[in-house]
Amino acid sequence: MILDGKLVKSELLKELKIKYRDINTGLAVIEIGDDFASNRYIKQKEKLAKELDVKFKLIKQATATTEELVSIIDKLNNDHNIDGIIVQLPLPKNIDYNIIRNRINPNKDIDGINDINRIALIDNCNNALIPCTALGVMKIIDFYNIDVSGKDVVIIGRSIHIGKALYNLLLNRDATVTICHSKTKDLKKYTKQADIIITSVGKANLITQDMIKDDVCLIDVGFNYLNGKICGDVSHDVVRYKYLTPVPGGVGQMTVYSIFENLYKAYNLNKQNTISTTKIN
Ligand code: NAP
Repeated sequence: MILDGKLVKSELLKELKIKYRDINTGLAVIEIGDDFASNRYIKQKEKLAKELDVKFKLIKQATATTEELVSIIDKLNNDHNIDGIIVQLPLPKNIDYNIIRNRINPNKDIDGINDINRIALIDNCNNALIPCTALGVMKIIDFYNIDVSGKDVVIIGRSIHIGKALYNLLLNRDATVTICHSKTKDLKKYTKQADIIITSVGKANLITQDMIKDDVCLIDVGFNYLNGKICGDVSHDVVRYKYLTPVPGGVGQMTVYSIFENLYKAYNLNKQNTISTTKIN
């Protein structure tokens, strides 16, 4: 079965559009450099912002120092017309990402990368702003009623905004979670026994049929450009699986949706001027 990100997005958007009718908010996106995948994601964000009547501010520079980026973020932190700030990745190597992600006001941190939101996620707090791609993956899982409790989940990739966030989200849902990365010695050993595989590497053909069980759920977050075509990390020769998210048309669609679900949450947090650390359970 194909897990259709476009369908999930359009269904969930119906409710979100009603919520946005009564609010006035703005989203700021910062891009330093010029990345193919980032440019594509920015266009998608701008399009949905227009649909929801959200002010959209794009700050794009070819280069910046950490200090210059900090000053851009400070201005946006103090801008009452902006409730959400996203810094596009990858950032140029000269920029200190740890300084940048912790400079964003936690209430405007709609990609959930600030340490305050990361700890809130680990603690299962209900107002944590959760990284959009990880949230999007969970939305797909929930829409198709895929039970994760007690399942063996293998996540490939350990970035703060994808792999590590998903690790905590799935652990909080009682899955048994393993994270693999570039230093993992025998990837197949882990993928072969997994009930659910979430791959977020950025390497075409990383996952092949011989590496997986026939009834696996494959969530492909990867975004690659191969022979003039967009593809994920899962090879096209993979034909036996229980569930699969296509690329394009899978997780990417849900990332864009989740940005605006988070922006709505951030709007309310900013209005109340609170960071909730209330635990769900
Ligand atoms: P990243 O920060 O570069 O992380 C990539 C991860 O993959 C790292 O943890 C790396 O391990 C691991 N890795 C690299 N080669 C590997 C290998 N051969 N085997 C196993 N693990 C390997 O990238 P990211 O920002 O997380 O993005 C990952 C992918 O998701 C990219 O293709 C990106 O374009 C895509 N993406 C998609 C969406 C969406 O909405 N669909 C959103 C954001 C990103 P180390 O930690 O050891 O280096």
